[in-house]
Amino acid sequence: MSTSMIDLRSDTVTKPTAAMRRAMAEAEVGDDVIGVDPTVARLQERIAEMLGKEAAVYMPSGSMTNQIAVRVHCKPGDEFICDAGCHIYNYEQAAYASLSGVAVRTVQGEFGVFQPADVEDLVRPDNEHCVRTRLLTLENTHNRASGRIQPYDNLVALCDWARSQGLATHLDGARLFNAAVASGVSLSDWAQHFDTVSVCFSKGLGAPVGSALAGPAELIREARRHRKAFGGGMRQAGIIAAGALYGLEHHVERLAEDHEHAQILANAIRTADGLELRPEEVDTNIVIFRVDPALVTAVGFTAALKDRGVDCLSVGKDLVRLVTHLDVTREQIMRGAEIIVNTIDEIRAGTLDASGAGTQY
Ligand SMILES: *Cc1c(COP(=O)(O)O)cnc(C)c1O
Repeated sequence: MSTSMIDLRSDTVTKPTAAMRRAMAEAEVGDDVIGVDPTVARLQERIAEMLGKEAAVYMPSGSMTNQIAVRVHCKPGDEFICDAGCHIYNYEQAAYASLSGVAVRTVQGEFGVFQPADVEDLVRPDNEHCVRTRLLTLENTHNRASGRIQPYDNLVALCDWARSQGLATHLDGARLFNAAVASGVSLSDWAQHFDTVSVCFSKGLGAPVGSALAGPAELIREARRHRKAFGGGMRQAGIIAAGALYGLEHHVERLAEDHEHAQILANAIRTADGLELRPEEVDTNIVIFRVDPALVTAVGFTAALKDRGVDCLSVGKDLVRLVTHLDVTREQIMRGAEIIVNTIDEIRAGTLDASGAGTQY
């Protein structure tokens, strides 16, 4: 990074490496709206193969892959079931409602995880008073639950239940690469339980743009139609697809380093009086912790950290999130951990007044 700021806001802040930029500059391209960009085609084939699906389609964002998944599985007036803390429900402007006329039924999971028993009564009866329940979505890793990996057997049980009810299944796998590297369960092992899976290349893999939706060829053809209507058809997209392909080839295994870095931060937070991990265990590259509200608000704490060279986000009145990624070094992580502990120590000792800084998030 060009400044000394330790940027832990998100794994989306990464910039393409020199080698990735070279691959992008040299990419063979064509008009992908008419399906003749060879680099996009290679990316789609490669990610479909990695996920064990028949086909995949490249799109500008994970919000688009998720929303188009909802669109291919549901008709206007249908309903889907998801966790109340998930990205599709919280961070995509209810586009399932505004763009597709689809309703949602949320389940209150515990740190992003719910059980078959929590959903078994949620499928509506087949009569003309009721909305039709069509789809179950899960998120792995779970963003708001601190990058938590879904417990595998539970995920299989939920998908089996969904199938037994005639529901389609979609996995929001924006960070499925992190789940695969950290768990040792392969991408295709996770993906096989779902009809469709979306993944992001612009998070941990460090590519500048793009996501893919993978699934059966017929559904992906349908998704391509919706992509055009949603304004996501891109012409010489091989330029950006080459960055995604480079990330797939070179930046997957190294996610283990981001996970180690998250453990270093988590261990520092465990030692700090006034900070508490939420949840207690950190599975991948996201660390969420609670600051003791008697000492400081989350906004006050992040402002104090920024003054000291650590940039991160408040994600609740008393919750702060740190995300490790390709563009933070081990040395920065060690320094960042120290700054976090020292800052709460100073606030507790009363030598740093962070009380006036912000009460909202
Ligand atoms: C980042 C993310 C997405 C996609 O968000 P975009 O802003 O559209 O890239 C989808 N799901 C989860 C869980 C995410 O973290």
